Amino acid sequence: MSAYIEEIMATVKAKNPSEPEFHQAVEEIAESLTSVIDRHPEYRAAKILERMIEPERVIMFRVPWMNDQGEVHVNRGFRIEMNSAIGPYKGGLRFHPSVNLGILKFLAFEQVFKNSLTTLPMGGGKGGSDFDPKGKSDNEVMRFCQSFMSELFRHIGPNTDVPAGDIGVGGREIGYLFGQYKRLRNEFTGVLTGKGLDWGGSLIRPEATGYGSVYFAAEMLATRKETFEGKTCLVSGSGNVAQYTTEKINELGGKVVTVSDSSGYIYDEEGISSEKLAFIMELKNVRRSRIKEYVDKYTKAVYTPVDSSADSNALWNHKADCAFPSATQNEINLKDAQNLLNNGVYLVCEGANMPTELDGVKLFLDKRILFGPAKAANAGGVAVSGLEMTQNSMRLPWTREEVDERLQKIMKSIHKTSVEVAEQYDTPGNYVDGANIGGFLKVAHAMMDQGLV
Ligand code: NDP
Repeated sequence: MSAYIEEIMATVKAKNPSEPEFHQAVEEIAESLTSVIDRHPEYRAAKILERMIEPERVIMFRVPWMNDQGEVHVNRGFRIEMNSAIGPYKGGLRFHPSVNLGILKFLAFEQVFKNSLTTLPMGGGKGGSDFDPKGKSDNEVMRFCQSFMSELFRHIGPNTDVPAGDIGVGGREIGYLFGQYKRLRNEFTGVLTGKGLDWGGSLIRPEATGYGSVYFAAEMLATRKETFEGKTCLVSGSGNVAQYTTEKINELGGKVVTVSDSSGYIYDEEGISSEKLAFIMELKNVRRSRIKEYVDKYTKAVYTPVDSSADSNALWNHKADCAFPSATQNEINLKDAQNLLNNGVYLVCEGANMPTELDGVKLFLDKRILFGPAKAANAGGVAVSGLEMTQNSMRLPWTREEVDERLQKIMKSIHKTSVEVAEQYDTPGNYVDGANIGGFLKVAHAMMDQGLV
């Protein structure tokens, strides 16, 4: 690490105490940028990196709501408006009890680089609440979403800040949030993405992150003249990203043998066929139940509950070729990374945001496996959100084929940029450097053009 980057990291830690995920995200980017800053002293003089680390605006607010029993609850709401150099703030909302300022700042920071890589004009933001939708009735979720939007609406807009979904925020929540925004503003605009198809949503948006991640992995495999045909894959999570990752891997001839939720994981040696995936989708999206029930129906599969005292996650300790962490941050530690390599995994594609701890990433890079970092690999979701914004502005919907084709083009372009930039900066094959530097350069140029703001 250069003295300059060390200085930046010391400042980040001092100014943002108790935000370890934010420190981790900044450190990963800052390390990649050492050679860029050496080649571009003007960026250092203009303190581009220092400015990118500081959110343009942070909004924190009270979200009071009432449960079905008439009891009052108070949650905390957030929106981090990180960087608007290349477009309106854009990024998801996360509803999960673990949500705090540091987690949302890490997500917003990563979003800036990811959105830049998509080639679409979108700045970076992120938001959410420590509200837990699990176990809540539809009415409780609706009352919460209405209260959340009653404050958020004054900070967002189709040309200002366009939120979307993330963990705990799917079609149901986006619907309630949109309804309340429309009521308060008295206008029908594309202020949120991930909307229902009947009211401004885009085809392929629900599938986009998972499909995009598999398209990116297919590009990585193609550099070794390989395809998904016959590949065994480990997938974590069983939510939006995990479901469509599994669907696309199946379509391309691969076999998925694991999925999980926060209580445990299932291992199905025969593979999760499309029929089994339909069961998971109904289980998770309609009945909102636990993945454990999979083994009641498919009795050859094995369920393993989470062991919080273990030093590694057993899901990552099965023979496979590829791994798709698609649940949450820091779900692969150094031991898990080692287990993956020992089991023959040579492609890791990050569907989730920052699922691999820094020393795990270093190990993958040292071993020169195909490692697709989140910023590049899971950018398909926000890319199709960008396409949803375009369709809303034109007031014209595109067909499924048209959106899917554009998504594939974007994922190919992100792959190409990552490969080419890594070569230009003397780290060939390193998708982490390629994506970080590629994403940074566009935002840095824009910030230089726009002066000291
Ligand atoms: P969902 O809420 O649909 O699913 C999340 C899945 O991960 C669930 O199976 C959930 O289990 C599991 N999970 C959540 N938190 C934890 C935890 N702390 N430990 C173990 N498992 C956990 O979210 P998404 O699929 O949308 O998001 C998954 C990841 O992908 C996140 O990192 C998100 O930021 C990222 N992402 C999502 C995009 C999108 O378009 N949706 C775009 C880009 C990135 P349980 O049901 O028990 O909570």
